[in-house]
Amino acid sequence: MRERKLLLIFVLILAAFAGLLNRSNGAQSAAPPQRTVAITVDDLPGAIVGNDFAMGDLKELQKINRAIPAILKSHHAWAIGFVNERKLQVQNERDARAELLEMWLDAGLALGNHTFSHADFQITPLAKYEDETIEGQVVTTALLKGIGQTDKYFRHPYLNTGPTAEAKTAFEAFLKERGYTIAPVTVEDADYVFNDVLGYAVEKKDKKMAARAKKEYLEYVDTTFDYSEGLSRDLFSREVPQVLLIHDNQLNVECLDALLTKLEHRGYKFVSLDQVMADPAYATPDHYVGNTGISWLLRWRLALGKTVNFEQGPEAPAWANKIFEQLRKERQK
Ligand SMILES: [Zn+2]
Repeated sequence: MRERKLLLIFVLILAAFAGLLNRSNGAQSAAPPQRTVAITVDDLPGAIVGNDFAMGDLKELQKINRAIPAILKSHHAWAIGFVNERKLQVQNERDARAELLEMWLDAGLALGNHTFSHADFQITPLAKYEDETIEGQVVTTALLKGIGQTDKYFRHPYLNTGPTAEAKTAFEAFLKERGYTIAPVTVEDADYVFNDVLGYAVEKKDKKMAARAKKEYLEYVDTTFDYSEGLSRDLFSREVPQVLLIHDNQLNVECLDALLTKLEHRGYKFVSLDQVMADPAYATPDHYVGNTGISWLLRWRLALGKTVNFEQGPEAPAWANKIFEQLRKERQK
């Protein structure tokens, strides 16, 4: 009896060992490719449904900025939040709104400059756009200084990098002088479209539409990553580190956890913008001038003498775009 028991234990140990071996072999063969991405989040302290310029309700903003840094932290994901300081300037709420930014720093995340009032370089004279940049760094710089950091990255609203080659070059020199590096974007998942649809659905108490917006947003994330990974392989014969642009909004409060899990399954590790930009691909010049805020992968294609079809590339679903356009027309005046 004792021998049979010992034999059984021996067999069990063998089986467990074989299982371990199998698992490690399996993990090797099914190992996803090593990919890296930096997460960048625009429009702090919060993007409002239908209107880039609305100040937003403090309580709602508190919910957004409590949730998003916590989700990022739970995935050990570095991220940088790009700030529009105009949204801090609400009487009797200035301290409370500055605290929204501190929530990011407390979670170990970074902050950057997104102009004071989300200015569009396409329609803003250079001198005014420079003022927007200076005005947009006051609170952020002070907060960063408090933890021994500097305001390092600048993100152009609408990814509009200049209406003419002259204005673009002059502004780039201005940024350099002030110690800023331009934060590029290689993946853009139209979360602002889906966020508006979600907000609209909630207002209409349409649960089905709200669920559809979130489901199709996450599906669209895959579409946009497929696209950018493909562009990268085509241009550099490898996958370069990516920079994802999303917004500080309610949609990401509800979907960011699933989005980051999805990226982990695609083999992505979350890294800083510094790490991404150390890749030689990021030294490719950007000479693009135009009124479409295109991905840096497309800018690099142009710089390397390849054609870009501006009609191509993924689009958010037509039904969602329709609601988005309609809301913007009504509310962004
Ligand atoms: Zn923005």
